[in-house]
Amino acid sequence: MSDVVLVHEPHDDAIPLVLDSPHSGTDYPPDFEHAAPRAVVRQAEDTFVAELYESAPRYGATLIEALFPRAYIDPNRHIADIDTELLAGAWSGPIMPSRKTELGMGLVWRLARADVPMYDRKLSAAEISNRITRCYEPYHAAVSAALDRRHAEFGAVWHINCHSMPAIGDSMSDDPGRPRADFVLGDRDGSTCEPEFTEFAKETLSHLGYRVAVNDPYKGVELVRMHGRPQERRHSLQIEINRMLYMDEAILEKHAGFATLQQALVRFLESLRSFIRARR
Ligand SMILES: [Zn+2]
Repeated sequence: MSDVVLVHEPHDDAIPLVLDSPHSGTDYPPDFEHAAPRAVVRQAEDTFVAELYESAPRYGATLIEALFPRAYIDPNRHIADIDTELLAGAWSGPIMPSRKTELGMGLVWRLARADVPMYDRKLSAAEISNRITRCYEPYHAAVSAALDRRHAEFGAVWHINCHSMPAIGDSMSDDPGRPRADFVLGDRDGSTCEPEFTEFAKETLSHLGYRVAVNDPYKGVELVRMHGRPQERRHSLQIEINRMLYMDEAILEKHAGFATLQQALVRFLESLRSFIRARR
């Protein structure tokens, strides 16, 4: 049993469906030593997302959750998305900073918020490699293993990369000040899954009464990019849930909407099981 990633296996009759929640971890390691206030650092979390989908194993799915916090190391970034501004000394591996790194939200975040530095120090290469080895790699290994196993068994696999988003775009996002839909589906403009999967999710969630946007403003990042290969019948879709639906974003506490949303996701998973059984 790992202390950085939890894998919830299907209760019985497995179907080729894997959900992963990379950002809902709240176990803050002692060596994080961030300077920003914890309340600000915690805004990076997709708090409670794994719990929202906790019924998934009852519907035959595997549910994987990171236990470490996203601001410590972000599993939804490329492993080479290294921020040299944060680094004390040289990095021995490849460095391919993305636009997220420019915004201070690379593999290891430099900023807690646009105007709040995460640290009052630089991080050593050893410190960053340790986070990769201890957290990033085991998380990725768990997701890859679950997807490969179901793909080997069924010849196809469907993957939902589960997230939540602030109700309104903040200054570190691509849509500052703009209110978001209830759900945002991301398939990187149709490249990470068959169009039917995105369409199914959009229709089902809309019928459940939610406003659904596709690839706007979130298209999906590293986990769907890495695992979504529709030509091999590996279908990955990112789903962002508006935090307003289930919690008070300022204090990170669930509100009455949590149970309603969790019930709606049960119905979504039920429909998804039928969709997958019909397509596999
Ligand atoms: Zn997220």
